Amino acid sequence: MTSRRKFLKNSLAVTAGVGIVGASCAEKKPTALVRASKPKALSTWVHGLPANEEAMRIISGGGSALDGAEKGVMVIEADPNGSSVGIGGLPDRDGNVTLDACIMDHQGNAGAVCFLQNIKHPIAVARKVMEDTPHVMLAGEGARRFALAQGFAEENLLTESSKKAWEEWLKSAEYNPIINVENHDTIGMICQDAEGNLSGSCTTSGLAYKMHGRVGDSPIIGAGLFVDNDYGAAVATGMGELMMKTLGSFLVVELIRQGASAQEACEDAIQRIVDKLDYKSFQVGYLAMDIAGNTGAFAIHPGFNYAEMANGKNELIDAKSYLNG
Ligand code: ASP
Repeated sequence: MTSRRKFLKNSLAVTAGVGIVGASCAEKKPTALVRASKPKALSTWVHGLPANEEAMRIISGGGSALDGAEKGVMVIEADPNGSSVGIGGLPDRDGNVTLDACIMDHQGNAGAVCFLQNIKHPIAVARKVMEDTPHVMLAGEGARRFALAQGFAEENLLTESSKKAWEEWLKSAEYNPIINVENHDTIGMICQDAEGNLSGSCTTSGLAYKMHGRVGDSPIIGAGLFVDNDYGAAVATGMGELMMKTLGSFLVVELIRQGASAQEACEDAIQRIVDKLDYKSFQVGYLAMDIAGNTGAFAIHPGFNYAEMANGKNELIDAKSYLNG
């Protein structure tokens, strides 16, 4: 943990204000990281495997990290058998499938949609928000109308099996989200292209049987996703309220900027939740990659896994956790 100690020492020097009066946090910090230039894709959960395949097909063919991060997660959004993303997502308590997504490119541009209904590819709408509007986020009916104007088709996203699961849930209608049982299966993805640029995406139907109108961390830049192409990128999955209260993905990247490794940064961001919030019944997982292609992952509870693909190898890896079963 040498680099972590150095990082803490640097932080203390900054806190003490030694010789840095007027220095801005926005100033670019020197980094020892050397930018990699090999395509790489990293994404949450087992559905990250097919998402990585698609992203790497694009990036290895000369496509950008942004194209990889968008098209990779679209594979999962389009899969009706996935009950936590896009079509087939489990609905809110009133039976509505409502989707959240965001995307960020290597130039710091960002786009997001939240509480979007009847549009299968929220990530593609988020990209349109980023590229074709002066805004970062569109919500609900406004996001839906924008998507329709952009040529997206409207469709029913509630599949028969998700409807059945919801009807079953209605019998007790108990909402008590605990670890890993409320489908904490958002897909968050980070890609690096052959030029070494980083981009990321995050898309979800959110917590199953949530209150109508609830929006989680996944479309919130800094909570569900953050990319700083000078240092690294992070995505989150799990109980969104915890990442929102700690701006978790931003925190992970900021810690990398301050000198932590991607792994140390994920661990420290989980520690922040543990120190400040009621965490025991909830799962949160962070996944990060720095510009050198080093990866890190950490969760509160065991059970969080992620897919990492580089050099033709696509692997599912179990993340370490703060609590051990
Ligand atoms: N983070 C998502 C949310 O709170 C849930 C998930 O990861 O599946 O909406």
